[in-house]
Amino acid sequence: MQILDGKLAAQAIKDGLKLEVAQLAANGKEVPHLVAILVGNNGASETYVAAKVKACEEVGFKSTLIRFEASISAFKLLDTIRDLNGDPEVDGILVQLPLPDHISAEEVINCIDPAKDVDGFHPSTVGKLVLGQPTYIPATPYGIMLLLEYYKIETKGKHAVVIGRSNIVGRPMSVLLSGSGNYGNATVTICHSHTKNLKEICATADIIVAALGRPGFVKEDMVKEGAVIIDVGITRIDDSSKKSGYRLSGDVDFAAVAPKASFITPVPGGVGPMTIAALMKNTFKACALKHYDGFLIQN
Ligand code: NAD
Repeated sequence: MQILDGKLAAQAIKDGLKLEVAQLAANGKEVPHLVAILVGNNGASETYVAAKVKACEEVGFKSTLIRFEASISAFKLLDTIRDLNGDPEVDGILVQLPLPDHISAEEVINCIDPAKDVDGFHPSTVGKLVLGQPTYIPATPYGIMLLLEYYKIETKGKHAVVIGRSNIVGRPMSVLLSGSGNYGNATVTICHSHTKNLKEICATADIIVAALGRPGFVKEDMVKEGAVIIDVGITRIDDSSKKSGYRLSGDVDFAAVAPKASFITPVPGGVGPMTIAALMKNTFKACALKHYDGFLIQN
């Protein structure tokens, strides 16, 4: 069994970006600028946004964090996004989800200029992804594809089971794995809360992507010998022995499943860091499309 080390792979991606940004800056080119909007003070969201801002600093991007109280009106939030859409100094915009109940995430996502949609959630972005056209790939599935690429994990002709059908993880993941691009060409089964015989389906999988948000859901008897296991889940579990008061749990029973797997991602340190690295790549791409003449977009 080999650990798929997301920290290592993410660092390699960030190091590459840092070098490119430094060279471009030295030649007088624009440096990518990401704007993150955080509404309210959800603990997990605070952590994710802080990690994104820190990654920007690491690779040499500009970043701006706009914070709003949870009580902000939808009108004010949408107005801010429209201003950022029109701001030539801004390359990428992300609004950290979830949003308070009185604000429609759909309305907010739809308001972001697709050219700055580095989270890859806008309907036009998703449509292009499904059609196999160049676009921004949502950061978590993109990060997983980059991890498969980093470890050269064969997906062609394999049976991949994706558990979870959310718009930000499960569904785009199934599109990428079943697509004809690199690290695609798998036969994909997408499972969700109404799937019958989930255990039997998983047991036939060469690759399992668990993205349901149920700690330790994937057990040893659901996994085929030699399967590749990608654990997307991150759930905070109260733990008074930790300084933070919680520990993170993935959707896979790691201790029981790891001995059977050929490759497995840990939580933390697997998909999480790759998500951030993928966001950095999308932000770089947004800037490159706008400012870097003759720059070859590889993804
Ligand atoms: P979501 O709640 O939007 O979707 C969960 C999906 O799981 C749904 O499609 C649902 O049908 C399915 N599901 C729920 N219970 C099920 C069951 N018993 N059997 C089969 N399917 C079931 O969640 P999400 O936003 O896709 O996130 C999933 C997990 O991934 C969460 O733990 C989240 O925190 C984590 N996540 C991690 C990253 C990262 O960077 N590592 C990024 C995004 C989400």
